Amino acid sequence: MYSIRKKLSIIILICSVLAALLTAIFVNVTINNKFNKYMVDIQNKRNNRIVQYFEEVYKRDKKWASNSGSEMKHEAYMSDYCLTLLDSNKKMIWMMDPNDIKGKEHFKALSNKSGVYITNSFPIKYNGSTVGYIEIGQYSSVLLSTEDMNFKLSINKGIGASIFLSLLIVIIISLYISKQFSVPIREVSNISVNLSNGDYNSRTNLKTDILEIEKLKSSINTLGEKLKHQDLLRKRLISDISHEIRTPLNILQNNLEAMIDGIFPVNTEQLAALNDEVIRFGKLLNNLNTLKKFESETISINKEKVPLNELLSSICDDFSIALNEKNIELIYNTKSGKNYNIFGDTDKLKQVFINLLSNAIKFSNYSGKIWVNLTRVKEEIIVSIRDTGIGIQKEDLPFIFERLYRGDKSRNKIEGSGLGLTIVKDILTLHSASINVESEEGKGSIFTIRFKAIN
Ligand code: ADP
Repeated sequence: MYSIRKKLSIIILICSVLAALLTAIFVNVTINNKFNKYMVDIQNKRNNRIVQYFEEVYKRDKKWASNSGSEMKHEAYMSDYCLTLLDSNKKMIWMMDPNDIKGKEHFKALSNKSGVYITNSFPIKYNGSTVGYIEIGQYSSVLLSTEDMNFKLSINKGIGASIFLSLLIVIIISLYISKQFSVPIREVSNISVNLSNGDYNSRTNLKTDILEIEKLKSSINTLGEKLKHQDLLRKRLISDISHEIRTPLNILQNNLEAMIDGIFPVNTEQLAALNDEVIRFGKLLNNLNTLKKFESETISINKEKVPLNELLSSICDDFSIALNEKNIELIYNTKSGKNYNIFGDTDKLKQVFINLLSNAIKFSNYSGKIWVNLTRVKEEIIVSIRDTGIGIQKEDLPFIFERLYRGDKSRNKIEGSGLGLTIVKDILTLHSASINVESEEGKGSIFTIRFKAIN
């Protein structure tokens, strides 16, 4: 296993070495080719010049002598090539010894000249006929002087130096880049290890300009937040369930014991109070059961055309007794004659509005007001339920749809199970509808549901 930093550095380095090598080979081959072509050109010009020289010599003397053009020997010796002059019958007039060149000090130092001895023969012409031949021999197809060799060497050195320098720069850059990746990824992976070990408070606030790592960072933080919240809910769930069950059981037990001991009279009023506790207990179990069905996705849903205006008006009527008890005024606003049809399960939708209206009444003070508004905006049907009740604390707002979540205020004073809104949310999800809530503590709350209309 490699660390991401090591792996990235190795990859960048291998790619750069390959790129540098390829560039070096390409540059070297191109320069060599061009240079050799240039040298061959020069050599051809030299050969022409030598032939022309001997043609001039013949033109002047009209015959070959044993020293004709021998002044060229010096130049030939200095430039590392040998000349042999032949007459028209290819009989040798004079020649230079190739071994003289081989023995030269600087010649030994130039490795490329220690190769095979090559000779080229060129005809010497006078008045259109061949009067002799000049043979030019050398130890390489192309002769390079010490300066030429030095020039080639310095180019190769330049290429080598640029490779070395670019690799050095690449190593520094790759270390820097790989650090940019490895540090945040290592941090995020440490956080995920902490989370998996149960440390739900572990968070990261690293700064990065890499989009994917930024997303990874924020999602791991959100995950931590959610795990922490789920953990809190789980702990609350156990204490809430035991509390919810214990309270009615204790009341029942105490009252029954008091009746058995003859402290409390066994009359209709006492029995009705005990029955209320049994009903409360039953309600809690029913809600838990409904929720279990939703969460295990075993709930069956029968969708049909539902005229929301009719459904809402009948539900509002059903609440008249509860409203009267608290002297709450309910105002139902809708435009008659408009189409408010949606596709849904009537019973489940009824449950949604009952839960929301019960909450509105439950969390309203005596003589409060509740507005139920039904409107249609294009293809959207919007139901809002607004109350002038106690409102919801800012810190409770994000969690009120969670299982068994109850606002701190309502927890102690107002009866409830913390399941009503969870059920509402689950039913609305099945109807592809959305719900949102706005609330101000002490002023009231407004729940808004958006459905898709049908004709
Ligand atoms: P329950 O009402 O049984 O406590 P719900 O799931 O229906 O459970 O509601 C969750 C919490 O949301 C409540 O405990 C309460 O704090 C808050 N809440 C819901 N509706 C209202 C409302 N209309 N006004 C004020 N608080 C509300």
